[in-house]
Formats: sequence, structure tokens, C-alpha cells
Amino acid sequence: MNDLFQFADDLGPRQIITIYQPRLNLRAFLVVDNIATGPAVGGCRMAADATLEECFRLARTMTFKNAAAGLPHGGAKSVIIADPKMAADAKQTLVRAFAQAIRDVRDYIPGPDMGLSESAMGWIYDETGRAVGLPRELGGIPLDEIGATGFGIAIAAEVAQDFCAVRIKGARVAIQGYGAVGRHAARCLAERGAILVAASDSAGAVMNSDGLDVAALTKFKLGGATVAEFSGGKRIERDAIFGVDCDILIPAARPDVINRGNVNSIRARLIVEGANIPIATDADALLAARGILSIPDFIANAGGVICAAVEYHGGTQTSAFQTIEEKIRDNTRAVLETMRRRKILPRAAAFELARERVVTAMRYRRF
Ligand code: NAD
Repeated sequence: MNDLFQFADDLGPRQIITIYQPRLNLRAFLVVDNIATGPAVGGCRMAADATLEECFRLARTMTFKNAAAGLPHGGAKSVIIADPKMAADAKQTLVRAFAQAIRDVRDYIPGPDMGLSESAMGWIYDETGRAVGLPRELGGIPLDEIGATGFGIAIAAEVAQDFCAVRIKGARVAIQGYGAVGRHAARCLAERGAILVAASDSAGAVMNSDGLDVAALTKFKLGGATVAEFSGGKRIERDAIFGVDCDILIPAARPDVINRGNVNSIRARLIVEGANIPIATDADALLAARGILSIPDFIANAGGVICAAVEYHGGTQTSAFQTIEEKIRDNTRAVLETMRRRKILPRAAAFELARERVVTAMRYRRF
């Protein structure tokens, strides 16, 4: 925090904005990382423990995600430091105040992220005239409701079958974070023949090695309960999800949850990163050394932002799903082929692909 330039490199960040309004207890950060490929699109997250460093790392992830997906958008991210479970009225007041504070940052188009849904994008749009992932009534394609990101996760897993021993049909899946991304990933994988054996949320986890009923679990969770109380399985400790016997693990909640401390307990053979930066930097090589294939976040979970970009440019829900499938299929294959050919980590291959596109775009810009 003392040195805001600690994150700076040749790509960005272009702007770091801190927002503090004591009367409303509004504390927030906005990092616009890079806009060489166009105005930045990136989620707005509400979390009580969010930090500036997290915001910067997420903004950089968006730069790479948007570039890798070939979208005409740069990368940014914002975080509002608050409890997303607060009363709806208070949340609306806080989000509207945040929107007013970023009103003139025209290079930033906010989208939904953890703790903030389509409704919040509606409030931001009302205040600023800019937001994606809008409610249907405002002409949006509600990306969380339709499961744009979860769909893309399933596509990435499909491609990964050619690069590891896991087969989706019959694969046992564990999902950390049964939210918008997690529950749609569970549904899309189940539609392809996989079996959900464990799921968690912030309050706990549930497992059933014979399989959890995805539709029933989703209905139960959307009713407001924690998955841990679902009667179709047995309650386990929240973080025990990482040691569950499974083939595919989908982290779909917080950053750095797979790290040196738990990497050896992971039993999955394929990890598809639903969340942003869920694997700590130093854990990547350890996973690979154990023969665990991981598909990087900004390749696998790009479904949401691809959908947002299709919405922003006037496309339909049908064209959004087609674009997600095409881009995630092509990018996952390109990354995993480079990994295999050059014997490098999947993340290194993904960085190369995305970075090259950003650097090339920067050459077209005056500054
Ligand atoms: P969400 O708020 O809908 O769901 C998050 C879920 O994670 C909730 O069920 C919450 O209880 C749970 N959770 C929080 N902390 C947890 C913990 N420590 N252990 C287990 N569960 C925990 O959010 P979302 O939209 O599903 O986003 C999840 C992640 O995916 C975030 O990292 C987000 O940045 C990333 N992501 C989301 C999208 C999208 O389209 N929504 C796109 C790309 C990436």
C-alpha cells in the first residue's frame, strides 16, 4: 500500500483509484490496467477482505483474459470493501455511491463479479451510463443467470480431455464456491456425463461419493441456505473440498486457495480455474510436477467477459454462447498444444499468447 508503483511494469497499471467516503463507509479501489485493445471491461467485486493487491492482480488477469479472447477491450477491476450479505437497500446506496465516484473514468466499463449481480450493474448503469452484464430488462444478457462462465469451463474441460487421462463422462467433480460460476459449471459438466461429488460455499461443504443431485443442490442453495446443510450428502469442513477424491476440481471462489499449504492434498487430475487467480503463483509448478493439469483462469473462465462484450456490441444470447464456445475451445487447445510442444507450464503458454496480443496492440497506440 505504501508504494502504489510496486505493481508497475511495461503493461500497466494505467490508473489506480482509491475511493473513501467515511459517511457511507465506502472503501473501494479501481485499477485500470491496460487499454491498448480498447476500453477496459472488468468485474466489480464486493468482498469484506478484498485488497488493492488483489484488485491489481485481477485487473491484470482481465488485461490478459480480454486480449486472449481477442476482444476489443482492455483490462480493469474494481473492488468495494464491504460484506456482500448486507441489506439490499444499504447495498444499493453503497454501489450507487461507488458508481458516482468512478463516473468520469470513461475507460472503465464495470461488469458483475463476486458479491454483485446483474441488479448492481443496473444501478451502476443508471448512475454512469456504462456497465455490462445488465439485467434483461435493460437490454442485457444476464451472464450469471444463463451461466456464461460455467459453460466456458465445461468447454475448456472438454478440450483438456485430449491432454490428460480424465474423461468427462463419469468424471467425479468437486467445486469450491457454489455460486454463479460454480453451480453452472456443475450443471454443464453434469450434462456432459460428469458426477458432482462435492461442493462448498463460504459456510461449509457437502460431499457424496455416489453423486450429488445438481439441480436439487442448486435449488437448495438459491433458497438462501449453505450447501453444507443439503440433505443429499454429508457435511464436511469447508476447506476439506481440496482433499476430496475426484477427477476434476473447479476452484470458483477466492484467490490463492490452492497453494503450497494444500497442494499435496489435491487428488484431482484436472483443475479448471473457474475463479480468478485461485492457484498461488508458487503452486503451479508443484501441481504440474504431480501430473495435475490446470487450465489457467484467463483462458478457462473467459465466458463471462466474452458474453459481456457480445452484449456491449449489441449481440444476442445465442451469438454469445457460440462465441464463448469458439474462443474458449480454440484458446484452450492453443495453450495446451504450446504447453506440450515447448514443455512449459500451461500458465506460461497462456501468458505468452495473451501478452503478445497486448504488446502488439500497444504498438498501435500513441502512448
Ligand atoms: P458468486 O458470488 O456468485 O459466488 C461465489 C461463491 O463462492 C459463493 O457461493 C460463496 O459463498 C462462495 N465462497 C466465498 N468464499 C468461499 C470460500 N472461502 N470457500 C468456499 N466458497 C466460498 O461469485 P461468482 O460470480 O460465482 O464468482 C466466483 C469466482 O469466479 C470469482 O473469483 C470471480 O472473479 C470469478 N469469475 C466470475 C465470472 C462470472 O461470470 N461471474 C467470470 C470469471 C471469473
